[in-house]
Amino acid sequence: MPHSDDARWLARAIDLAVANVADGGGPFGALIVRDGEIVAEGQNRVTRDLDPTAHAEVVAIRAACSAVGDFSLAGTTLYTSCEPCPLCLSASLWARVDRVVFAADRHDAARGGFDDLEFYELFARDRSTWDLPVDAVRPENAPAPFDAWLAADHRTDY
Ligand SMILES: [Zn+2]
Repeated sequence: MPHSDDARWLARAIDLAVANVADGGGPFGALIVRDGEIVAEGQNRVTRDLDPTAHAEVVAIRAACSAVGDFSLAGTTLYTSCEPCPLCLSASLWARVDRVVFAADRHDAARGGFDDLEFYELFARDRSTWDLPVDAVRPENAPAPFDAWLAADHRTDY
């Protein structure tokens, strides 16, 4: 369901994206909003930081977590200039944001030469058809990290 503030926050995300292009970066911007206030903003930093995971949404999520001092962003909304790719959608799930709102979509991104649509289609296909081999190898001690985790009385669940 659209909210009354959506257009305003999306306009900010789009401004961030367009400004990033002027600065030599990718055409993506995002922000995290809680209770009508911006917690943090992000712009795509892939080429600048040599970081293929530095998508605007991920940059915004990292900055927001740093700003609030928590690994959970429950109670926030992620606004982004473009539909989150599978990476950013997963990051949104991990960050426990309440809601994701986007402007342009995967088809707009494809027109710009980005792989969002291609990756969504890839995820919808059987992995055996991928060019990227993703091989399950299961040594005897494969579950050991989870045994250690479950036995740790100092663990922080997330
Ligand atoms: Zn992304």
